[in-house]
Amino acid sequence: MLDIVVGAQVGDEGKGRIVHNLSLQNDVVAGVRAQGGNNAGHTVMHEGRTYKLHLVPSSVVARKPGYLGRGMLVDIAVLAEDIEKNGFISRTICVDPYVHLIMPWHKELDSINETQQGIFAAGSTRRGIAPAYGAKHERFGVRLDDLMRGDERIDVYSNFFAHRIAPFVSTPVRDLVKGFKQDIEKMRSVAGILPAQVKDVSSLVEEHLQNGHHVIGEAAQGYMLDVHHADYPFVTSCGTGAAAMWEGIGLGPRKEYMGEVIGVAKVYTTKVGNGNFPSEIHDSRAEELRLKGGEYGTTTGRARRIGWFDVDMVKGSVRHSGLTQLALTKLDVLGGMDEIKMRPLEKSFQGWPVFSSEEYREQLDAGIDYVSDNNLRAYLQEIREKVGVPIGMVTFGQDSKDFISYL
Ligand code: GDP
Ligand code: MG
Repeated sequence: MLDIVVGAQVGDEGKGRIVHNLSLQNDVVAGVRAQGGNNAGHTVMHEGRTYKLHLVPSSVVARKPGYLGRGMLVDIAVLAEDIEKNGFISRTICVDPYVHLIMPWHKELDSINETQQGIFAAGSTRRGIAPAYGAKHERFGVRLDDLMRGDERIDVYSNFFAHRIAPFVSTPVRDLVKGFKQDIEKMRSVAGILPAQVKDVSSLVEEHLQNGHHVIGEAAQGYMLDVHHADYPFVTSCGTGAAAMWEGIGLGPRKEYMGEVIGVAKVYTTKVGNGNFPSEIHDSRAEELRLKGGEYGTTTGRARRIGWFDVDMVKGSVRHSGLTQLALTKLDVLGGMDEIKMRPLEKSFQGWPVFSSEEYREQLDAGIDYVSDNNLRAYLQEIREKVGVPIGMVTFGQDSKDFISYL
């Protein structure tokens, strides 16, 4: 079975830590990512150590293999660093030869494009993601396999993109091309010694599923950032839901392989970058929650915008990904608030006390309907009822122990 973990909001919901918690289970044999690139950072805390992962799936922290599927974009230097910094996991990473690479010209174009888009710019992380997906679809992309074979298209593209960039910078085309050549040589040498295996990820995953094992699919970003949906152009450059996961691995969603689809949602909402945010909080409570929740991007360090839980948004994710359950994260951050709101409901909710990790566990252990604090119980029941899917997991702290699953 492939269990898929998607973001039900605007990204940074805590997918990484949920994937980690699931990966600790014995029947899980691997984790896979298949969308986005190092614009999607995940933080995992386990046994007192913090792991910041940019490209490798969060399953590796539990020492389960991590696969990078062909729907991903890979920045070779970042991948090497991700593996090196987390040392002990290196032998268990597999990269699909058909992943597309972030090329040096994509990073240059990212800044130029953002400037040209002005107020319509989504708020790019400037890691070359949008131009690389753009080039992939224009069929000017470079895959890992192309780089390693030294495909002659790379020289042609290098020249072509230098001409695209030159009018916006003060560097002549010749010098741009020269710089690209050096960068590509560096990429090739890093790729040559990458402590990861290059293997067809679709076959690896298929084999596990045929053997009846569980694989965890770790989606990137969140429902509102899907390129096919309403918030365009304030979105990312790929699909973010369960369907994009299957496509990015390179397998069809066969009925016998479909496991749970877990939508991760904070009990409030955060958003990085520009665009519509109906439940945004504009008073001092935004700053309070930002500080308490550490709401600064893993990848960029940017301050996240803060809002109340948005029922319509998460219901949108239920439709978009066919969620079978919710994983609600960051209960602890709302602890101690006087009043809590939920969009688009008229009523407001009374807060619950600041509980310790042990107190949350006691409160939540027997299930949502048996929580003894009336306010906490009412809030969780309302989310479940209004969104319309069961709450399968809750988290109340960053560490992997601050987690309860009702499965
Ligand atoms: P992802 O992109 O969805 O994987 O999420 P990120 O890792 O980028 O951001 C989520 C942040 O929230 C990380 O810093 C996590 O350590 C943190 N986090 C996750 N769950 C909880 C929780 O229950 N309580 C608190 N306080 N922090 C959490
Ligand atoms: Mg993140």
